[in-house]
Parts: sequence; structure tokens; C-alpha cells
Amino acid sequence: MIFDLHCDTIDRLINSKDRLKKNNFSVDVEKLKKSNANAQIFALYVSLQLEEDPLKKCLKMIDRFYSEIELNKEDIKLATNYDEFIKNKNENKISAFLSVEEGGTLQGNLYNLRILNKLGVRVMTLTWNIENEIGYPNINHDYIEKGLKKFGFEVVSEMNRLGMIIDISHLSDKGVKDVLNYSKAPVLASHSNARAICNHKRNLTDEMIKGIAKNGGVIGINFEKTFLSDKDVGAVEYIVNHIKHIINVGGENCVGIGSDFDGISTKNLEMQNVGEIYKLIDGLKKANFTEDVIEKIMYKNALRLVKDVMI
Ligand SMILES: [Zn+2]
Repeated sequence: MIFDLHCDTIDRLINSKDRLKKNNFSVDVEKLKKSNANAQIFALYVSLQLEEDPLKKCLKMIDRFYSEIELNKEDIKLATNYDEFIKNKNENKISAFLSVEEGGTLQGNLYNLRILNKLGVRVMTLTWNIENEIGYPNINHDYIEKGLKKFGFEVVSEMNRLGMIIDISHLSDKGVKDVLNYSKAPVLASHSNARAICNHKRNLTDEMIKGIAKNGGVIGINFEKTFLSDKDVGAVEYIVNHIKHIINVGGENCVGIGSDFDGISTKNLEMQNVGEIYKLIDGLKKANFTEDVIEKIMYKNALRLVKDVMI
């Protein structure tokens, strides 16, 4: 079983006539089936720079998501909580979870969060790479010490109340601290790696890894080359190094997979698509990970988070 915590496939689909069933991107229904995947979180990435009305763009993406799911209803179905995941699994269907990647989509209004929740969204990445009403991204050095804004704290409480998973990937270092201090529920870093292994701002410090682990949260390992090492290759071996480090720092219950497929370039990646995740399983076996820990990394930790947070 595989549970991938982050892909940007809907963004690819919305900009093309391609379909979710079979395409040349890294995630489609056929590739998910090939890898025996049971769950995929589909991120709806909205660009605040490109979109005049980010909410409108997000709604368009949600509509496209549901159209694609409908066309593949024998194989994949929306899941909004653990029980729905189990029901889908028993029907031999992949669970598709919806996430919004850009809290600016809310345009500073909690009612937009509640409406998105009603439309099936159960995860939200508080920021992308630019400042929004919630807080600041980690990509800009000047933002490191800038934490959540007033609206950001309100969003955290409302997401806690609604049973939505707070995703802190992309968020400023101080913002992550604020979320960890303030959130009543475990959090997710859906697609970030370890800064001690690869010094990139998008990656997590050991302190953050400890905080996320202590809080019962999960870190999805990103396959993006520049987050893995200083080499222009995305080798499985580098992914294994990040996993080893995160387990050393935070324990075996805090790491999962957050491929970022279709949001990253696949040039020189050892795994080109979600159908090739078996290469990572082989890599972990080679590195002497036990079957039990491999299962935790591949899906059990992610599933526990869903069970603990989603209502
Ligand atoms: Zn991202």
C-alpha cells in the first residue's frame, strides 16, 4: 500500500486536455494502480501572482477534480475521513483526498475555509512561496522570524474545529513554531525534507522535525532534486538518507511520502512517476529498514494522521 501526501496533478490537468485516467504526467489512475496505491492527496495549487481571483480558480480546480473522479469511479473515489478511506479500500478503490495549496485562496475570510471544507477539502497548506493573509513563506530570508498573522491563528483554530489537516510545508520557520504551539491537532509537512541533510529553506530544521513528531504529525518526503542534495540527480539513495535522518531525529512514526509529483521536474529523477515507488521500497529494504518501518513510511503514518485529525 502507498499513501502519497502531495501531488500537483490537478494543476497539470487544468492546463491541458489530459485526463486523470492515463496521461504523460507522473500521476494517473493507471500508475496509482500499478503501484498498489491506496490514497493520494491531490493538491489544488493556486498562484496568487497569476490569479486575479484565487478562490474562483480553486473552485474551477475542484470542479475538474470531481469530473475526473466521476470518469474513473470504478477505481478512485473522494475520501474525507478515515471511515471513507476504509470503505473505499474495501471496494478496492483508491482514496483521493483534496488539499488546497495556498491559504491566500481564503482571501482573509473564514467562511471560505468552511465552504471549501463542505466541498470536500480536508487539508490546506497555509502558504505557498509568497506572503498571504495567514503568514509568510520560508523561501524569503527576511521572513524567517515572521510568524503567523492574526488571521493565521484564526485559521489554525477553525481547521482544528473542522477536522482539517494543517499543512506547514512552505511556511516560515517562525510560522511553523506558531502552528506547533497553537494547534490542538497533529500537523502535516506534506512535501518537505531535512535541512540538516540538504540545506534548502523549504526543508525542515531538526527542531521542527522534533516538534512535528512530538505533536503526532507527519513529514512527507519530497522527491524534488534541489531539496534532496546539491547534485543534479534525484536518486532513491538521497531520499533514503533524508528518511534515515528524520527517523533518527523524530522517530519512525513521523515520516511518510509527499512526492510532489507533477509539481517538480522529473529530469534526472530515479523515480519518474508514482508507478515507480517500488524503487524506494527496494531502496529502503537495501538500507535494512524492517518491513514494519517501511509500511509506516509508505502509508501507516499518513493514515494515522488522517484518523487522528479528520472528522
Ligand atoms: Zn509546494
